[in-house]
Amino acid sequence: MKVEIHRRRVKKRVPLRISRGVVAESVNIEVRIAADGAVGLGEAVAYGSDPRQNTPEHLVSAIETIAGDISGVDPFERQRIHDRLDELNAPPAARAAIDCALWDWAGKTTGRPVWQLLGLDRERVPPTSVTIGIMPADEAAERIDTWRDALEFDVVKIKVGNDRGLSADRDLVDAVRRAAPEARLTVDANGAWTVEQSVQAADWLVERGVEHLEQPLAPQRDENLRELCTQLDDRGIDLPIVVDESCRTSPDVVRLAQLGADAINIKLMKCGGLTEALRMIGAARSVGAKVMFGCFSHTVLANTAAAQLSPLAHWIDLDSHLNLVDDPYTGPGIDSGRLWPSTRPGFGVDAPD
Ligand SMILES: [Mg+2]
Repeated sequence: MKVEIHRRRVKKRVPLRISRGVVAESVNIEVRIAADGAVGLGEAVAYGSDPRQNTPEHLVSAIETIAGDISGVDPFERQRIHDRLDELNAPPAARAAIDCALWDWAGKTTGRPVWQLLGLDRERVPPTSVTIGIMPADEAAERIDTWRDALEFDVVKIKVGNDRGLSADRDLVDAVRRAAPEARLTVDANGAWTVEQSVQAADWLVERGVEHLEQPLAPQRDENLRELCTQLDDRGIDLPIVVDESCRTSPDVVRLAQLGADAINIKLMKCGGLTEALRMIGAARSVGAKVMFGCFSHTVLANTAAAQLSPLAHWIDLDSHLNLVDDPYTGPGIDSGRLWPSTRPGFGVDAPD
């Protein structure tokens, strides 16, 4: 097989502020795997603090090394390719691009969408949430209107962890509730809260009907998760805790569930692709944890790759491409608030020449 790399710069319509900072644009890396007349596509997005993958150029360099190593291999030999990725200590985002491109290629070669190769029921796709970043409460209504122009949505995910404190977070949740009274709400603190702040906030989050609290504690404070979950239980507060930054690959799933986490947020760039995402879903089922799919600054390419597994998820948060002004790819649209995986072979996504 032949491996090609392309850089794709994309810009957000509305920059997204979370507790760690603001993202307005990114350079995403496209991987093309060509063999036997079919071309598989995958995407790598730089993120986080891992110096092997926190810039696009690091990812390009990692993928070039991998490409040189696997170029002669049959793309159906995924087990052998994954062994090489392990031996090369490939960064997860680079691994995700390769793994997804192999799956897309396998679908195109066999003439089947990937979800169908996996035997999944496309009718079970949950609605995707739309994200409201940290912002002054009086701007929330306008942002909700922008989302309404883009799609019909059922679920709003609100970023909290405002550096002006919990009252600013509560004001934003209230403003979103007023602007979208019919929507289901979830919140994501991206690790900004302490145990005490999380317990304090849990009271008013439950009062406002928020369905779950994502990553309240910093991943370095995983040991405090048990204390948080015990305090919520002792107070009779029923607010499921989802782990995201703490939960990267399948071994994390059991460890975090044992500390009390109720659900995991799977992202292809953290775990290294659909193959590992399937292992994480299996691990989550074994410990009774629920599954969510999330994204970074993905285009429709990586979000549609993740959407192949949507029938196995309880919550879907694959909205990043809907906030791009210049997504270079065309893929399946949104209908009834759902990112339906395509019925075309592979991921059903077309790339520019
Ligand atoms: Mg998150």
